[in-house]
Parts: sequence; structure tokens; C-alpha cells
Amino acid sequence: MSASEFSKRLIAWQKTAGRQGLPWQNTSDPYRVWLSEIMLQQTQVATVIPYYQRFLERFPTLADLAAAPVEEVMPLWAGLGYYARARNLHKCAQAVVAQHGGEFPRDAALIAELPGIGRSTANAIASFCFGTQTPILDGNVKRVFARCFGIEGFPGTRAVEQEMWALAETLMPARNTGTYTQAQMDLGATVCTRGKPLCARCPLADMCVAYRDGRTQELPVARPKKAVPERESFFLLMRSPQGILLEQRPPSGIWGSLLCLPELPVGSDAASYAREHYGVVAQQWHEQTALRHTFTHFHLTLRPLLADVTLLPQAAESNVRWLNASEFEAAALPTPIRTLLAMSHG
Ligand code: SF4
Repeated sequence: MSASEFSKRLIAWQKTAGRQGLPWQNTSDPYRVWLSEIMLQQTQVATVIPYYQRFLERFPTLADLAAAPVEEVMPLWAGLGYYARARNLHKCAQAVVAQHGGEFPRDAALIAELPGIGRSTANAIASFCFGTQTPILDGNVKRVFARCFGIEGFPGTRAVEQEMWALAETLMPARNTGTYTQAQMDLGATVCTRGKPLCARCPLADMCVAYRDGRTQELPVARPKKAVPERESFFLLMRSPQGILLEQRPPSGIWGSLLCLPELPVGSDAASYAREHYGVVAQQWHEQTALRHTFTHFHLTLRPLLADVTLLPQAAESNVRWLNASEFEAAALPTPIRTLLAMSHG
């Protein structure tokens, strides 16, 4: 099958069977397309939709986002995970204002230089918004390519990725670029799915190597396994009549800039640490049910220590806040911390 046949089939399929009416479709506003692309990285469509809508209600334009302090952005991202995306989103909006007069550049190579935007996302924005002939290569496309063309090797390796980029360039049509880009995303998300692809409904079935050879479960080749480290940490649940003490994390590292229960440094004693850093005296510490959370590169067991505390007259650190249960919902809290708080309120 020729390159033009590949794109022709996908474009035709998109028009009849692709996803229609998603809130970020039918717009060529780069701000909206970019926001959806960043939110959709690592996150399902159904989860993204309400976040996307809330975000746009608060920041209807790129200029609104750029002008806001990052502390106002984080609560709108809390629960979506991968928080570096939100910090980069904010930095990117400011860079577009500072370097490009508030308008996204039309050249995909320039878009790719902005914070938090990789080559595939830049190409998607350019093809959707400016009709450029710039192909994408996200996880969905890699899966379709690996299966359809029988590409061996883990797609995360440089050599396989380069081979796929070359293929993506060859297959990219000159016209209907946005529809083709959307078709690739939709085929990977709804038909050529990771677990059980629906080959009988696939417009590429008669040319697909994996389907022909019964290898859809083997391709794409999985990431070579390596042991994921286990870590554990104690988190202090300090309760006073003013609520629970929460502390803003430093901007880098896990949960950067989000509000969090204080994490007890390894080897520290909870009572002295609480007194020294937060100006509180604890009655007695009670260990609560632990929670295990999986990050990309490690598992973390969160061990909460609960205590009723009284405040000493000296000032606590400035990056702490006392929140009561009714304020948890609107606060920028990472999901596992939200869960711990919910568990502690029974
Ligand atoms: Fe994926 Fe099956 Fe289509 Fe091949 S035929 S591209 S495995 S859905």
C-alpha cells in the first residue's frame, strides 16, 4: 500500500468513525489545541474534559494564563498528575507573550522550542491550527506503526523512534493535515488499543503485519523490564482547631508547588521536627493506615502520623496553611494526599 493510500484511508475513516465533538475539536485556536494536547499526555479523554473546561473558564485566553501567578494554575491541575506539565504550561504561556507577542509561532520548530512542548506536540499544534505538513509521533501512533508495519524493538529506543519519525514524515499527506492527525490519535485510542485491538473495524486491517501474523499482542515490543524502586516516607497529619497543617512543596521534585502534608525527613523525630519547623507541640503521634502510590519511576508508601497539636506563640514557616475539611476540595493537593486526608476524616 502506498503512503497516500494509508493517509487516504485514515482521513476517510476519521470522517465517519473518528471521535467528533470533543471540546477541543473544531477550533484552530492554538491556545485551546495546545492546552488539550498537554492535558491529554498520559491522561484519558474522559478525565481531561472537565479539567479542560474548568481551566478555560478561569483562563479564557493565553494572555489570562500568562498574567496569573502559578499558584492559581496549580489548583486547576490538582488530580491530573504529572505536575511539571502545569508548571511548564504556565512558563510556556509567559514565553509566548514575551517572545512571540502573545501569538503562537506558526513554525513547528519554533513551537517545539517553547517550555514543555516536544516535537510531536508542536507538530500536532501546527498541523491542526496552521495546516502544516508536520507529522505526530505519540504513543498511539507508535503503537499503530509498530503493528501495521511490523516494526520490531521497543519504540522508546532512539533507533526505533528515528525509524518511526522517518515513516511518519513519509506518510504525512499534504492536505487535510488536521483530519489526518486527529485520525491517527483516534485510531490508536479507540480501535488499535493497547489491550485488545478491534482489528475487524480497522481501516488498515488488510495491510497490517501484526493482524496478518497474529502478533497484535507482541507488538509494539514492551519496554525492557527493570525493577521499580520502593520508597517510603512518613507524612505528618497535624490537627488543631484551625484545621490540618499543609505546606507548599518546593517547585521542583514530586508534587512541585502543590500543598502537601509535611514529609518527615529520614531519621528525624516527629515531635522535635514539628516543634522546630512548624511551632507546634503534639500530644501523641498515632500511625494511620499507609497508602501506596505508584509514580513513573518508583513506588512510594505514604505512612501518615496523626497528632492533635497546640500552636506555640512563635511564627510557623510562611509556606504553611491550616485548612479545614471544607477547604480541601478547592486546594491544590496531590491525589494521594487528598486520599490520606479523606481517610483521616473517616
Ligand atoms: Fe491495529 Fe488491528 Fe488495525 Fe493492525 S489491524 S492497525 S493491529 S487495529
